[in-house]
Amino acid sequence: DMPLLEVDDLHVEFHTRDGVAHAVNGVSYQVHPGETLAVLGESGSGKSVTAQAIMGILDMPPARISKGAIRFEGQDMLKMRKEERRKLRGQRIAMIFQDSLSALNPVYSVGFQLGEMFRVHRGMSRKDAKAKAVELMDLVKIPAAKARVGDYPHQFSGGMRQRIMIAMALALEPDLIIADEPTTALDVTVQAQVMGLLAELQQEFRMGLILITHDLGVVADVADNIVVMYAGRIVERAPVHAIYANPGHPYTKGLLASIPRLDLKGQDLYAIKGIPPNLTRIPPGCAFNPRCPYAQDVCRTDVPAVVDLGAHRQSACHFAQAVLDGELQASDGLD
Ligand code: SF4
Ligand code: MG
Repeated sequence: DMPLLEVDDLHVEFHTRDGVAHAVNGVSYQVHPGETLAVLGESGSGKSVTAQAIMGILDMPPARISKGAIRFEGQDMLKMRKEERRKLRGQRIAMIFQDSLSALNPVYSVGFQLGEMFRVHRGMSRKDAKAKAVELMDLVKIPAAKARVGDYPHQFSGGMRQRIMIAMALALEPDLIIADEPTTALDVTVQAQVMGLLAELQQEFRMGLILITHDLGVVADVADNIVVMYAGRIVERAPVHAIYANPGHPYTKGLLASIPRLDLKGQDLYAIKGIPPNLTRIPPGCAFNPRCPYAQDVCRTDVPAVVDLGAHRQSACHFAQAVLDGELQASDGLD
């Protein structure tokens, strides 16, 4: 079956004073209707830039899409006319951002802002739009929606505001939602509630969902598949449960080991040494090699090919199979 969205060999560069930053270097992924794809990576991995490229909120200087395609139901969005693309973006693809306070307008009530979607896109009357707003607030489980429809963004808690963002995204019944760190700004318990709600609604409406996060801990229960990004490339892809059971790339293995766990309380948490590379000077060979506890000489010279590990798993590591089989000795106690 045809994917809802297909990112195909995408390359994005930023022209900076420092030189050309290679933010996205050949990223390919697909999302099918009803699928949740988690895109995992640290800041600077290219995960958000890829999402911005999909949304078309990137193609202005200094960013440049230098190669690749982004197909929605088979049609390359990068070749569409602006108008056509804007329509897609408003109605069929919606985005949820991390920061609800800056995404919502402080001077209008949330009911007005939700209702505006229906007035602008569906030509509804003010009264009908307000009723729709209440309906949406109910849908995202905001208590006493009818009484609160006239409240302003600052009158809601962070978790409630994030629910309102979800309601906004759902308003026009999109086929695809892109959520960029939708719960990062929230407390852990509220995070789980909001993520649970998003997953529930995604199921109910059978939307595609791209869930962008730096936190491997939040995607376990909600994602079907996962791609792990590092320095603008995908380093591992797999069904999400497989990654938790046994990561197939040293970077993923390090991320997993650095999640706090109740059963290991009191033990020192593992930390991947170093920081992600400057994207104007990505290390030769494997971009992860300066931080990798398994790195060998070949890693410093040769870019690793993507290795097929079977069971829908791939890893871009010279020693992918050995990592998966636990046959390598990490230099820093990772295994
Ligand atoms: Fe580590 Fe080498 Fe694999 Fe890169 S290719 S992740 S440096 S072992
Ligand atoms: Mg980001």
